[in-house]
Amino acid sequence: MYSGPGVKTSPDFPIPDTMKAWVLGNPGELKLAQKPVPVPKRAEVLVRIDAVAICATDLEIIDHGPPASILGGMPFNKNFTPGHEYMGTVVALGPGVDEYRIGQRITVEIHAGCGQCKRCREGMYTACHNYGLNYGDVDKGHRANGFTTDGGFCEYQVNHINTLVAIPDAMSDEEATLVVTAGTAMYGLTELGGLVAGESVVVTGPGPIGLLGVAVAKALGASPVILTGTRDNRLKIGRELGADHVVNVRNEDAVEAVRRLNGGKGVDYVIECSGAPNAVNDAIRMANRGGKVCLAAFPHQETPVDVAHIVRNNIYLYGIRGEGKTATHRAEAFMSQKRFDATKIHTHTFPLDDLPTAIRYAKDRVDDAIKVVVKAKGVAAHRVAAE
Ligand SMILES: [Zn+2]
Ligand SMILES: [Zn+2]
Repeated sequence: MYSGPGVKTSPDFPIPDTMKAWVLGNPGELKLAQKPVPVPKRAEVLVRIDAVAICATDLEIIDHGPPASILGGMPFNKNFTPGHEYMGTVVALGPGVDEYRIGQRITVEIHAGCGQCKRCREGMYTACHNYGLNYGDVDKGHRANGFTTDGGFCEYQVNHINTLVAIPDAMSDEEATLVVTAGTAMYGLTELGGLVAGESVVVTGPGPIGLLGVAVAKALGASPVILTGTRDNRLKIGRELGADHVVNVRNEDAVEAVRRLNGGKGVDYVIECSGAPNAVNDAIRMANRGGKVCLAAFPHQETPVDVAHIVRNNIYLYGIRGEGKTATHRAEAFMSQKRFDATKIHTHTFPLDDLPTAIRYAKDRVDDAIKVVVKAKGVAAHRVAAE
């Protein structure tokens, strides 16, 4: 029977001893396996995973390894379960936990950090100095589920209470998986100094973070919000999420268009979500003097950057990893107040057993897929009806 020292459970939520879990073998190879259901320790809960979204970073980890780090190295053939954008129901409480109750619906942020390094103490737990140190005699207790500890492509997972975000009953499972995506955009804007209403923003790259970046910037009062990209169908969704202007960079020069749309001077903030080779040089030319650029994509190649332009114009560049400083809570507040409809980026749902198909849809953008969600229970594969 499922149990652990000081762990509270409820007959309303019976917990099996083992669960289905996808495990990463060689690069690109996922296998469905059985694993023991993990047991929460102090300040942790057990989450029954009700839905998990696939992220571009999952695809990166499954095929190439980084930014995952398991037992000090690559994540392959280590019985590692990826997946990090999940939500679910609290079904067991670790010793002393009274912040959440059994049966409560929650979504999660990824990084618990170690809680003891300089950055964790500052709330920058996504830049924890003990990233991946959670094993053997270097165990600092760091957790980032789906990156350095087991993640969400399974039925149950243990989460530190600091990573939980309570959600209202009215928020669907699918929408709740998107809180962390909106939280990443929110964290970027927080680190740039906190967006003040009336400041101008460009978002480059209409992927999930870019599209929700548009929504978050608009909800914070940015004006105008300009979105650039190459796919008209995604730019259209960007408009629905609050972009005042969209620019298809296949049809016009993005830098010129941005400067024209904002009175010739460039914008206060650029959120770079494309990872394109020329993205940084474009972004610094879209920014006005003293403007700030948030780099939120992981490009594959190193690229030369016009440093002189940055210095002459006092432009600030910020590398932003994940969602620190409890940005997910602020994102969730906007979403539960219906300040924007994040579900516009959710396109497909598959059963957990069909994870490889779901991943193919996300990777190859089959059927214009944007966010693909996987659910352990009670779903047949479906495309969400376009509105
Ligand atoms: Zn992600
Ligand atoms: Zn830390």
